[in-house]
Amino acid sequence: MSKFCFFKKVKKDTKIIMSIQKLLARQIFDSRGNPTVEVDLVTSKGLFRAAVPSGASTGVHEALELRDGDKGQYHGKSVFKAVCNINETIAPQLIKSGLSVVQQKDIDCFLLQLDGTENKKNLGANAILGVSLAVCKAGAAEKGIPLYKYIAELSCNTNLILPVPAFNVINGGSHAGNKLAMQEFMILPTGACNFTEAMKMGTEVYHHLKAVIKSQFGLDATAVGDEGGFAPNILDNKQGLELIKTAIEKAGYTGRIEIGMDVAASEFFKDGVYDLDFKNPQGDASLKIPADKLTELYHSFVKDYPIVSIEDPFDQDDWAAWSNFTGQSNIQIVGDDLTVTNPKRIYTAVEKKACNCLLLKVNQIGSITEAIDAHNLAKANGWGTMVSHRSGETEDTFIADLVVGLGTGQIKTGAPCRSERCAKYNQLLRIEEELGSSAKYAGRKFRFPSCV
Ligand SMILES: [Mg+2]
Repeated sequence: MSKFCFFKKVKKDTKIIMSIQKLLARQIFDSRGNPTVEVDLVTSKGLFRAAVPSGASTGVHEALELRDGDKGQYHGKSVFKAVCNINETIAPQLIKSGLSVVQQKDIDCFLLQLDGTENKKNLGANAILGVSLAVCKAGAAEKGIPLYKYIAELSCNTNLILPVPAFNVINGGSHAGNKLAMQEFMILPTGACNFTEAMKMGTEVYHHLKAVIKSQFGLDATAVGDEGGFAPNILDNKQGLELIKTAIEKAGYTGRIEIGMDVAASEFFKDGVYDLDFKNPQGDASLKIPADKLTELYHSFVKDYPIVSIEDPFDQDDWAAWSNFTGQSNIQIVGDDLTVTNPKRIYTAVEKKACNCLLLKVNQIGSITEAIDAHNLAKANGWGTMVSHRSGETEDTFIADLVVGLGTGQIKTGAPCRSERCAKYNQLLRIEEELGSSAKYAGRKFRFPSCV
């Protein structure tokens, strides 16, 4: 055997070792009891498992989550088609391609080509993402490094940062059965020294809030919504802010914890007005307000409370209202339904100066490479990035590693309650422990943590 042939043989063997041996998808259930996709990927290093989250308030511009739509089964929400697309189309073709699990970009590109549509409607964004996530985990193992370090490598980031957690402690909107129109009221322990202390502060305030709600509304008002936050049956959004302010005071963290909101305004925008009583069919007409009145309301919130971030303050296509408000604000204005982690929408939002922060949801765009690109695009345009869970979650903790690896400085993954939410926060505690003295917490610089 010539020297050249020997080299070729070694290279081929290496490729086989690093390749995918088995890829198997199944239907499992998310935190709301809805079906979702789980993927097992096997290489010579072991089995790597990923599960796909799902949103309730979804932007109309999101990649397509493929559901079977058979109303006679699982209320139409089963994902057997997506599972079948992985097992019968993606698995054989990807294994045949011989692509290595460390070729994340090439594999994601391969999946997009196999689908062939802009919104991933053929194979389903849920099918593609499940595979993409599992490949990423396998790639990290192949390189022998933690997932967050591997993601940092993939995204060319050298600054690992522990994020400020945005705990969603009061739930409204489409995530709760109360009257509250605005969807999320969050606390951000920006004054903590590290992530471990941020968890201490967040959980203490959470329990104080429970006591405050119980004393004002009774024990049955302390039931929690989809993301683990409380859902007292209040109508006035300012009352939600007031409850949080009181809980922060009682915990002794005034000045060290700030407030964020996700209004998810597309959910209550109808016929050109915002209906702050949209869950009530006989709603009060005076609560149907135009964008300029809603803008005034936000300004009053910011004046009276330590609000540092507002997400989706207006409908996803009400561009003028977005640009106007962002132009008038010093706080973070986050695009979620507006931008849907989609480069085209991000470009438009940059052009229109509609917001200054991207909400990064891996399942909105549907692959790891595209999620990294979306973050880098936002960063290049001077925006911040908040990594986000979905309201329908699983025990998969991928986004905890993602936020540290990308170094975005902020994550929202629900209240510090319910295991599918705490799983992510607990993984961040482990990462902080592993990084030891080199761990850096974003703190007050959560919007632009590169200088931490
Ligand atoms: Mg949102």
